[in-house]
Amino acid sequence: MNIMKFGGTSVGSAERIKDVVRLTFSYPGRKMAVLSAMSGTTNNLLEISDYLTKRNTDAANDKINLLEKKYKQLADKLFFSEDIRNRSYSLLREHFTYIRSFTQDLFTVNEMKCVVAQGELLSTALFELYCRESGFNAVLLPALNFMRIDREQEPDQFYIKENLNREMDKYPEASFFITQGFICRNAFGEIDNLKRGGSDYTASLVGVALNASSIQIWTDIDGFHDNDPRFVENTHAIAELSFDEAAELAYFGAKILHPSTILPAKVAGIPVIIKNTLNPAAAGSTITDKASGKGIKAIAAKDGITAIRVKSGRMLLAYGFMRKVFEIFEIYKTPIDMITTSEISVSLTIDDTSRLSRIIADLKHYGTVETDNEQTIISAVGEGISDDSEAARLVFTALAGIPVRMISYGGSRHNISILIPSSFKSRALNALSSILFNH
Ligand code: ADP
Ligand code: ASP
Ligand code: MG
Repeated sequence: MNIMKFGGTSVGSAERIKDVVRLTFSYPGRKMAVLSAMSGTTNNLLEISDYLTKRNTDAANDKINLLEKKYKQLADKLFFSEDIRNRSYSLLREHFTYIRSFTQDLFTVNEMKCVVAQGELLSTALFELYCRESGFNAVLLPALNFMRIDREQEPDQFYIKENLNREMDKYPEASFFITQGFICRNAFGEIDNLKRGGSDYTASLVGVALNASSIQIWTDIDGFHDNDPRFVENTHAIAELSFDEAAELAYFGAKILHPSTILPAKVAGIPVIIKNTLNPAAAGSTITDKASGKGIKAIAAKDGITAIRVKSGRMLLAYGFMRKVFEIFEIYKTPIDMITTSEISVSLTIDDTSRLSRIIADLKHYGTVETDNEQTIISAVGEGISDDSEAARLVFTALAGIPVRMISYGGSRHNISILIPSSFKSRALNALSSILFNH
């Protein structure tokens, strides 16, 4: 069994869907396609939700009409038989009637999750119809029947495995399955999701549940690049990465993978392969437990970071001070990314600021508190680079002239992280590429 996840661009038009269907069916053996929403749809559904939250029904309706029109045009291009095209029209009508039903109701975050889920439900339904029209046998398995997160928002791997296998056992003859990425149920059985970009995470959870031979992430670029191609020209695909390298890069902002994708695959020892739907012949990137090469492999950047400095009220960081500080973040369920300490103060960074004011109020019991927002963590990643003094020297040479707020070195053997104001991000990424990779 191979898992093939196709992102938004890969299913973003009639032509792309046709290509992807051909591509999956030319791939040998049993497989499961995990599909994202068509590119732009999740953003559109969030915009609609935003209007509905603000009770701006006219604007919501305008957006809903526009989106429906876009899908109708897609159906006209995708299907050639009248019967299937009519089926696609009634399918679209169902989904859009459902979305419109929220213009009359109270709209909370729960309703928003139901609206946002329509993106993946639409793409998979149209994809399955196209397979049917083209004479390919495909079984659509609803992710809402087996993907589940628990009270801590963590995937319930036992539930997923049991229920996915039970669903699949209903089709012993089938060799091609389709399911939705991103969407799931929560501990209360309500519709929920795995956060933005979560289809990658679905692919890896499904891959582990089925003990797949590979988890393939098919996207719009020919592999994991050595720097963010949206900010740096002449970046290059990396042929091989270790699980640890890819996990650090994804966690520290490389958009190509949802931050949680790698861990389940690493634990199960299943290779993650990144491939380009627009250029399937390109080798792509293979992520396994094997470390290869030397030095820094890639750079990633994570935006939207807030740095918090707590200066101890009394002299010296007496023992117990750190525990009290960290306990506050634990109480407010806010993960910390970077930490540095001095004699009398500790600095740390967070990206979830939803409970920041309460965190600051509690921290003030232990000292003075300063915050800096609009910060970016730049991470240089490569197996064993913390043992390589040359790697650190090159990073600091590249960052000359850039105001550095924090440095984290040695926390992981694979990562050097630096916190800088976001306004310097592009300059830092480009300087690092030119010094480290000579581009
Ligand atoms: P999908 O819709 O297939 O999930 P995403 O947009 O989520 O695709 O991820 C692919 C995009 O990630 C690329 O088009 C690229 O712009 C961006 N990206 C950021 N960092 C990297 C990187 N290190 N390597 C490759 N792509 C990256
Ligand atoms: N459609 C979702 C998003 O845009 C999930 C994904 O594409 O992975 O975030
Ligand atoms: Mg993505």
